Amino acid sequence: MKNTSKTAIVTGASRGIGKDIALRLAADGFAVAIGYAGNQAQADAVAAEIQDNGGTAITIKGNVANVDDVSKLFSSAEKAFGRLDVVVSNAGIMNFAPIKTDNVEKLDQMLTTNVRGMFLVLAKAAEILGDGGRIVALSTSVIAKATPGYGPYIASKSAVEGLVHVLANELRGRNITVNAVAPGPVATELFFNGKTEEQIAMLAKMSPMERLGTPLDVANAVSFLVGKDGGWVNSQVVRVNGGFA
Ligand code: NDP
Repeated sequence: MKNTSKTAIVTGASRGIGKDIALRLAADGFAVAIGYAGNQAQADAVAAEIQDNGGTAITIKGNVANVDDVSKLFSSAEKAFGRLDVVVSNAGIMNFAPIKTDNVEKLDQMLTTNVRGMFLVLAKAAEILGDGGRIVALSTSVIAKATPGYGPYIASKSAVEGLVHVLANELRGRNITVNAVAPGPVATELFFNGKTEEQIAMLAKMSPMERLGTPLDVANAVSFLVGKDGGWVNSQVVRVNGGFA
């Protein structure tokens, strides 16, 4: 399994957007390490789909906010593939939480996964990737909407965009790009959880394309950023949202 092709780690790839990023990168020829928090059956199913299509995939369980788990994620992928070319830091959580004292624990949860977790994955990617490496982090287009109830989530994803720009500068001279992809509403569990049919229909109509994004819409943009034509795009936030802005 070593040194056969380019390789990628995708965190949060057991379902949702990360799953389609893993499938798309595998279709592009990457060997893919599928990171996940707990849903082993779903992670295994993504790996099996890649393998059934002739690709190479492994699954690695771990919490992105845990230093040892992130070290294991990278060392397991390196051991399996022999090299690392691309890191997509996609794992994230979202809870509806108006800015009220009662919601401070939800704030802590989102900061832990979305900021601490992102920081650790970006840090390890910066340590491990070599010349030509590509890093993509998941932000969100809802930052620009300042939607009530999204304060902690928007705070966490604003931090992600800050980290991306700083890391791009810290990697000066190493020929490694660092970008964010900021989707609008995408049809995944994270988006549907806690929303009524009316809210979903209203949000789907917000882009001029009048539909929700699909995980594949986002995966296609990631594929461009990490592929042969994306090498001059650096330190950008690519808003993949059908015009929801
Ligand atoms: P889902 O809830 O569908 O999937 C989340 C994924 O992240 C799962 O694979 C889950 O693993 C993993 N995960 C969650 N917490 C952790 C953790 N602490 N450590 C490791 N893995 C973890 O989310 P989406 O696919 O919708 O979202 C993916 C990314 O895109 C997120 O960063 C999100 O903020 C962002 N985004 C999503 C939008 C949307 O509308 N869906 C819009 C804009 C941005 P497991 O299955 O094992 O639990």
